[in-house]
Amino acid sequence: MNSNGWKLVIHGGAGVMERHLLAADEESAIRAALDSALEAGSRILAGGGSALDAVEVAARVLEDDPHFNAGRGSVFTYQGTNEMDASIMEGAGRNAGAVTGVSATKNPVSLARRVMEASPHVFLSREGADQFSREQGLDQVGPEWFATAERRRQLDEMKESDDHYFDEELKYGTVGAVALDVHGHVAAATSTGGLTGKRWGRIGDSPLIGSGTYADDRSGAVSATGAGEYFIRTAVAHEICARIRMLGESGQAAADAVIAEVGELGGSGGVILVAPEGEAVFSFNTPGMYRGMASPEGREVAIYGDE
Ligand code: ASP
Repeated sequence: MNSNGWKLVIHGGAGVMERHLLAADEESAIRAALDSALEAGSRILAGGGSALDAVEVAARVLEDDPHFNAGRGSVFTYQGTNEMDASIMEGAGRNAGAVTGVSATKNPVSLARRVMEASPHVFLSREGADQFSREQGLDQVGPEWFATAERRRQLDEMKESDDHYFDEELKYGTVGAVALDVHGHVAAATSTGGLTGKRWGRIGDSPLIGSGTYADDRSGAVSATGAGEYFIRTAVAHEICARIRMLGESGQAAADAVIAEVGELGGSGGVILVAPEGEAVFSFNTPGMYRGMASPEGREVAIYGDE
């Protein structure tokens, strides 16, 4: 058993979260949703369950909540569709699963897990991933499940403005979870609708193992959120784990260094990390990040950078 106990860290996206931009009722609904995700994952970890189960469950709670850009409430592509990406990885055997451009699976993170556990592959895309989902008997929903009026408004706003190619400067809302279980294993999961107005089958960092998600019991588990193109170019999640493993850096030092690199390239966003020794980390270069942490000592959630 792991003497450090269990730990769960989640995010609901990083971006321009500032007090004057968030209505009070919206803010409390977001805090409540983050707390529900922590509660669901904590129940598993406190009962001796696996980090893998905990990150999947926590991500599912956030996927089902329309405030976040994952599952229900995903952002729209330029064509006005919802196309979701997700990935999951466990640190003991470094098994991983991922999907991109899926359009009918209610919980894309669970589809990513099926790819990992029930297919010989790691990464499935679009129609193939949708077909595999049906064959696996996962919950299927119509496009109206994912579509929300607020995300439609954001697409319209993006199309009207000349200086936004896509929504890099808006609130993101991708979801992610990383966990350490009492057996000493780590796992990570990330799920997203991508970026508002994405085109031509664009794939972000979230479903890319090594960029948006990585887990390795030798270093830690990482889930990222932000302007995906920069996170791909920096191979953020693997780079953080590699620094811990090969340079002996702390999780915080490694995460801060890699987020600084993303910033130097012109990108913004953040990561969450949990290490096998129990270190829990948030690192972001945006004004805020929806986030939370749970351990046997309790649960806490935060939104703004100064919390
Ligand atoms: N990283 C995601 C993407 O680029 C977006 C986000 O994190 O909000 O698809």
